[in-house]
Parts: sequence; structure tokens; C-alpha cells
Amino acid sequence: MKESVVSLNLRKQVDDCKPYIAGETEASVLKRYGLNKVVKLGSNENPFGPYKHAKKAMQESLEVVNRYPEDDYVELTATIAKINNLDVTNIALGSGAGNVIETVARLLLDEGDEVLIAKPTYRLYREVSILMGATIREIPVKSDFTYDLEAMEEDITDKTKLIWLCNPNNPTGVINDRKELESFIDRVGDDVWIVLDEAYADFIAGGQRPEIVELLKNKKLIVIRTFSKFYGMAGVRVGYLMAQAAVISAFDTITEPFCVNRTGLFAAKATLLADQEQADRIKNLILDERARMESILNEMGFTVIPSSSNFIFAKLPNDLYSATICEQLMAKGVIIRECDAWGYPAYVRITIGKKEENDFLLNKLADVIEN
Ligand SMILES: *Cc1c(COP(=O)(O)O)cnc(C)c1O
Repeated sequence: MKESVVSLNLRKQVDDCKPYIAGETEASVLKRYGLNKVVKLGSNENPFGPYKHAKKAMQESLEVVNRYPEDDYVELTATIAKINNLDVTNIALGSGAGNVIETVARLLLDEGDEVLIAKPTYRLYREVSILMGATIREIPVKSDFTYDLEAMEEDITDKTKLIWLCNPNNPTGVINDRKELESFIDRVGDDVWIVLDEAYADFIAGGQRPEIVELLKNKKLIVIRTFSKFYGMAGVRVGYLMAQAAVISAFDTITEPFCVNRTGLFAAKATLLADQEQADRIKNLILDERARMESILNEMGFTVIPSSSNFIFAKLPNDLYSATICEQLMAKGVIIRECDAWGYPAYVRITIGKKEENDFLLNKLADVIEN
């Protein structure tokens, strides 16, 4: 194709955005290295999903995807509301948490607004905020990788509009103390919007998960969840937000109508209603595997950061460089995530897979770090 030379004339903020770095895919790595097996532990997916009733519901949805998803929206919203002890007016849906994050940025941010994010954290917060013309202030996490909430509070100015929190945080898997987080939201959420991304909250150990229902009713708080990770449904793109009814109705006004596909809506409702037992059983399996991986990685000389999620953030032994190690692993058929792009060149992020996948990784990893 002959490229045109006229100016594209895009919004000026587009130039400041960096492309989303998606994990490598199995197919691309298979082809590039001429391999016959690839294990993907780079995108925090759940290899055990989707679960039984979700699968059945997805098959049933195929009969009706000629129609727009109307009642399914209402049914899934009502199911989510009930499970979370909220009203249907407190819930809205999106095409994955990513789509919810983007729409929330469009809802709240104007040119000149300041937003606070942690360093490191999920990259999308930065890009969607910049696209809206906001200025980013990054607040480094503490030495134990928890959010420095005091520093965040001190950095609030009269321009600060929004604070993006991620608990457990990505890429570290670390949570903040429940009481500390609740009290931060309670104090700050009167003056400044807080978005709490709980993409991995179902993996948090009992008692450590923030209690958000009361806070949601009274604070400038938006909580975001997804079916992609815990429920193993990343491919059908369903996420949601919880907030005060007025926020939800504004969100629904500006979001694309029918942006969640009918297959995803069927699956999400079925999995919430009927797969919880299976999901909890698999969660325990993932957490057991995580403990096993942590102790083996420690023995191999890694420094493993305590995780509250389905992935591990760990420092490589012997000052090894993560991009090199990840490239070498990829050539051997294992995808994990290098963390240089997050400012942590000595760290890797490893998704917990099935036992045989984890063993495959550990085996290749031993080869790579010994050479
Ligand atoms: C994976 C992830 C998301 C996006 O999830 P989708 O629902 O698949 O768009 C959002 N936030 C965090 C922290 C994530 O890790």
C-alpha cells in the first residue's frame, strides 16, 4: 500500500501515549523459534478456566447472538449486585476491565487535571489519563512494594482529580493492609476520586480484602473488577464497575451501548451463579502451586516478593538482566514477563500455571540462569 504523506491530524495527546505492551502469544513464539511446545505464563491468565457452567452458557449463547444483548445486561448486573450486597443501580458493565478503565478516564478527566499512580503499576492508567490530557504523578512504592499511601496523600494538590489504586498491584502482586487502605479511601475519597482496580482481589487471603460496600455508598470511589483472571474468561472480555448510582448512570450515558458481547454476558452470569465452588477449588490449587514455586525459586537464588495474586514478582539471582533471561526462555518455549519496562530490570513476573507448566518453566529457567 502506498502511504499518504498528508498530516494525520490526530489529537495531540495521542503522541504522548505509549502502545500497550501485550504479552507474547503462543502462536507467535511457536513460529518464531520453530518450537513444538510453548507454555504461556506471561499474561496472568487462568489456565483452568473457563469453568463448567460458563462453558455451557457460552454454547447456549451461540443460538441467540443474532440479537443485541438486552436482557442479559440486566440479568448479569442484577447477579453482580446481589453477590456484592449492592443495588443494580450501583453496577455497570464493560468489555473487560480495560474498557471500564478507559471509560472511567473519559468520565472523569479533563485537560490540566492531575492524576496519581503508583510506580510500578498497571500501565493502562497512565495511557488513558494522558489521552484525556491529564498530567501524571508517579509515587514510588515502598521498599516492601506496598503503596506509599502517606506520600500519595501528601502529593494531592488542588489540581488532583483522581488516584488510581491497584490492589493487589500488577506487576508486583502485593496488597496494602486492609485497614490502612480503607482508612485512606475514607479520608481522601471526599476531595479526590479514587479508582480501586480489583482485577485480582479474589485471590486475596480471607480477611485481608478491603470492605468496600459502605465506602462505595459515601465516597468518591469506583471499584473495578473483571472475569478475565479469577474466572478464567479473558477471551470473552467482561468487566464491571461499582459506584454510586449517579456515577453509574453517567458511565452508562457515555459508554458504547452493547459493548459487552452476548457470549461473555451469558458466561459471566453462569459462572457467578454456578461455578463458585469450582473457582474456589482451583484458587486453592493455584495458591498451593504459588507456594511451591516460591520456595523453589528461593532455592534457585531468586528473591520472591510475597504475592496475594495468581502471579509472582521476583528478583533474578546474580544481577541477571530480565529482558535477556526472558528472551532466552522464550527461545526454549516459555513466556514470562520481563519488568524492565516497569523500571525493574532485575525482576520478572511469572503467572502461576498448571503444575506441569510450572515445572516446564522451572526446568528451562534452571538452564538459562546457570549459563
Ligand atoms: C488484566 C488486568 C486488567 C484488564 O483486564 P480485562 O478485564 O481483561 O480487560 C485490568 N487491571 C489489571 C490490574 C489487570 O492486571
